[in-house]
Amino acid sequence: MAANIRKLLLIAASLLAPALLADDFAGCVAGLSERALREGISPATVKTALEPVRFEQRVIEADRRQPEFTDTFASYLGRRVTAGRIEQGQQLLRQHAELLARITREYGVPPAYLIAFWGLETNFGSYFGNIPVLNSLATLACDPRRADYFSGELLNALRIVERGDVEPGRMIGSWAGAMGHTQFMPSVYLRYATDGDGDGKIDLWGSPADALTSAANFLRGIGWRAGERWGREVLLPKGFDYRLAGRNQTRTLAAWTALGVRRADGTPLGSHDMEASLLVPAGHQGPAFLIYANFDTIMRWNRSEFYAIAVGHLADRIAGAPPLRRPPPQDAPRLSRDQVAALQTRLAERGFDSGTADGVFGPATRAAIRAFQQAQGWIADGYPDSKLLAALKVLEGSDS
Ligand code: CA
Repeated sequence: MAANIRKLLLIAASLLAPALLADDFAGCVAGLSERALREGISPATVKTALEPVRFEQRVIEADRRQPEFTDTFASYLGRRVTAGRIEQGQQLLRQHAELLARITREYGVPPAYLIAFWGLETNFGSYFGNIPVLNSLATLACDPRRADYFSGELLNALRIVERGDVEPGRMIGSWAGAMGHTQFMPSVYLRYATDGDGDGKIDLWGSPADALTSAANFLRGIGWRAGERWGREVLLPKGFDYRLAGRNQTRTLAAWTALGVRRADGTPLGSHDMEASLLVPAGHQGPAFLIYANFDTIMRWNRSEFYAIAVGHLADRIAGAPPLRRPPPQDAPRLSRDQVAALQTRLAERGFDSGTADGVFGPATRAAIRAFQQAQGWIADGYPDSKLLAALKVLEGSDS
């Protein structure tokens, strides 16, 4: 218990920590400049890039922001895989057909996936973020929370300037320093950015060909398997044991077939010995997906299961696949942090402990829900649906 209280105090302290003062920032940037010079970046680059750098309070605020509610899979997917985005993706697929065919031959990543990443990252280049990247990175490098990581990324941004790829003033990006059409962090840029249109320069802001080629180069570099899908929607048989779901366990397609799993159109999975995991992101009332090795590669781009499913599904739709056979229920409850904490407390009171009632929905909470559902004789999918929340008095939980 003492450990839990200590943890809560640490969380509270980090939330209340005052933002950096202007004087501290100037001193911090001076220190970063010295480090850049020691690491071999030229005095001219350090001067041009770091002299105009400014502290951005909105970056600190964005970094501190905690979502008030958990996002449901239905709402996450609904905002990202829209009819308009599918249509625009198909149009871009035709427009860039020749370029995309060349990229696929060289890197092994199919066109629809590249278009899907482009759509999810910047809505096909319509929004790169609006913050000078050197400001974002310097601000975060001078904030104690993740100073090491962002100091490294700031130095990488200086190396990009040093190479002459881009004027510092054109380096606009997200609050976290992600840049251009496909929102590359500077370290990813340095390793994977490629000249795709053959003009001898790399421009991830102005050249979709450079950005798409760089995305393919990045995906190949982090393990994309040519000739394999991301995964697919599947149908589960009645009475299916949902304890078999989760990215932490894999079975061959032959083993999934033996458990009664079929493709969403009812046809067999195929009998090869490919390994797959099962995901049910909206519980047993929503879609089920078998995911393959390329799913893990997508998660190396962005560590979110919802994101990786959205990339895969958007790619499928752009390539002409039908909508989900079992769309996620639209009325799934969206829980506030207080409600998640109340849920965790109620589960613990009934002997299904998920650790600290911290209001963060993670694997331990899912396991506790599954054990509770099993004890009730319900379908044990580990998903907090309305029935579970009513039984545990979380939705009406005015005392939470
Ligand atoms: Ca180029």
